[in-house]
Amino acid sequence: MDTMRGMKENAHAIAPGAAEHQSLALVNSVSASARGLHDDLDSPEAARAWLLARDLIGPDIVIREYCRKRIIALREDLRELFIAHTGGSTPSPEAVEGLNRALTSAPGALLLRFDPPAGFTRSADHPVTQAVEHAMALLAEDAAALLTGREASMLASCGAEGCLWFCLRTHARRQWCSTRCGDRVRAARAYARRRAQREGQTG
Ligand SMILES: [Zn+2]
Repeated sequence: MDTMRGMKENAHAIAPGAAEHQSLALVNSVSASARGLHDDLDSPEAARAWLLARDLIGPDIVIREYCRKRIIALREDLRELFIAHTGGSTPSPEAVEGLNRALTSAPGALLLRFDPPAGFTRSADHPVTQAVEHAMALLAEDAAALLTGREASMLASCGAEGCLWFCLRTHARRQWCSTRCGDRVRAARAYARRRAQREGQTG
């Protein structure tokens, strides 16, 4: 396999549904390949870039390791909920609680300020923790809506062995998160077929 091509595609691949659903994108921010696990949020800077690219934080917010760990914990809760949903199992109460905590800890209101000479303004320029909690609330809200809404039955885990990604099954025959996974599975099947044929001839 062409490793460079595979890596490049992986870096740019987006599973169906991940552009519309930030929670799906968050769960898919860790991926598996032959080279091991790749985490898009493996440093505070990477986490900041990921959140910023999705308009979940403002450009002035600096993410610290503590905040990154909270987002990773939310990602693990969401993954567990997605696995339970797609596999028809019961999620742990901790995962449900984790989502609900993210949902309810956000500062809900835009605060009123009065600064002469401009007068009244409303702003959401919270300190970093509140900004991160706001981002987590948006991610949790998206996940809760996805798991209970019109698209809930479309949420699927990728059928390719070893792939960690989820996607929305935008058409009934979709089984893979990406053409990359589809190609990989087809190549593996072709290889197995050829091997079986060879073994049939020699044995
Ligand atoms: Zn996949």
